[in-house]
Amino acid sequence: MADKLIIAKTAEEAVRAKVFDNVYLAGGTEVMRLGSSVNSDAFVSVRKIPYMHDIALENDIVRIGAACTFQEILENSIVPAYLREAAQFMASRTRRNMATIGGNIAVARDDSFLLPTLIAAGAELVLKDVKSEEQVSVADYIAKSEEYKSKLILSVCVPRDGIKVKSCRSANTAQSHARLTAALSEKDGKYTAVAAVKNSGLYILGNLSKAFSSSDPSEDEIVEIAKKNESIKLEDDLLYGGADYRRYLIGITFALMYEEMKGGRA
Ligand SMILES: Cc1cc2nc3c(=O)[nH]c(=O)nc-3n(C[C@H](O)[C@H](O)[C@H](O)COP(=O)(O)OP(=O)(O)OC[C@H]3O[C@@H](n4cnc5c(N)ncnc54)[C@H](O)[C@@H]3O)c2cc1C
Repeated sequence: MADKLIIAKTAEEAVRAKVFDNVYLAGGTEVMRLGSSVNSDAFVSVRKIPYMHDIALENDIVRIGAACTFQEILENSIVPAYLREAAQFMASRTRRNMATIGGNIAVARDDSFLLPTLIAAGAELVLKDVKSEEQVSVADYIAKSEEYKSKLILSVCVPRDGIKVKSCRSANTAQSHARLTAALSEKDGKYTAVAAVKNSGLYILGNLSKAFSSSDPSEDEIVEIAKKNESIKLEDDLLYGGADYRRYLIGITFALMYEEMKGGRA
C-alpha cells in the first residue's frame, strides 16, 4: 500500500507528479484490489480533475473524460448506445460507481469489459505527459504498451454515427470473470472483429474481419474460420472450458453478432 497520496487538481499537476514509480489512481478498483499487480509508494489521484469528467459531442465524435465512471457513461445519452451496452458488462453497481473508463483501458486485462468494443469502434485516446499531448488509437495503445503506459489518459474519443458496433460477453454468471468478451463493428462495409480471451489475450481477428468484409459467410463457415485461427493460443481450463469449446464459442459468438448486425435477429 502506498505511503503517499497526491490529489491532482489539473492534468498538468498530475503529469508533473508522475515521477519515479508513482502510479495514477482513478477509481481504485484495480489498484486497491487484494493481490493487485499495481504497486507503488505514491499514488497520483486524477479523480478531482474536472476536465477528466466531461462528456461532450464534438462534430460526430464523443469525447469522454478518462475519469468518467462506468455509471456516468451508462447514464449519459450523448454516449453511443454500443458503449453504454459494454459498460453494463460490469454487473456490480457499486463498482460501476467507482471504476473509470481510463482505468479499464490502462489495466488492459484479457477479460476487459471495454477494450474489445473500443478497439472495434476505432476509438482514440488523448495521452499527456510533461512534454506533450498526442492522440493514438486504443489498438496502438495496447500494442505499444511499453511506449505509452506511463502517460496520462486524458480522454477517450469514440465515433457516434456512421458505425455499427455489437458486443457480447460470456461468463458463468454476470459477476464472474468473462471467458470471452467479443465485439464486431461495421463501417462502410468494412468489419472489425475483436476478442478478449481469458488466460490467452486480446486479439484483432484479421481472418474473421476479412471474411465479413469480403463475403457473406454462413454460421458454419464463421465457426470454421475461428477454429482455424492459430494466433489465438488456448489451453484446456477447468474454470473457463476446454480449448476446442472456447474456439467454437468464439466462432458462434461472432456468427450471432454478424447475423444480428445484418438485421437477422431482434
Ligand atoms: C472483484 C473485481 C472484479 C474485476 N473484474 C474485472 C473484469 O472482469 N474485467 C476488467 O476489465 N476489470 C475487472 N476488474 C478491475 C477493475 O475493476 C476495472 O478494470 C476498472 O475499470 C479499473 O478502473 P479504475 O478506475 O478503478 O482503475 P484504478 O484501479 O484506479 O487504476 C487501474 C490502473 O490504471 C491506471 N490508470 C487509471 N486511470 C488512468 C488514466 N487516466 N491514465 C493512465 N493510467 C490510468 C492506474 O495507474 C492503474 O495502473 C475487477 C476488479 C475487481 C475488484
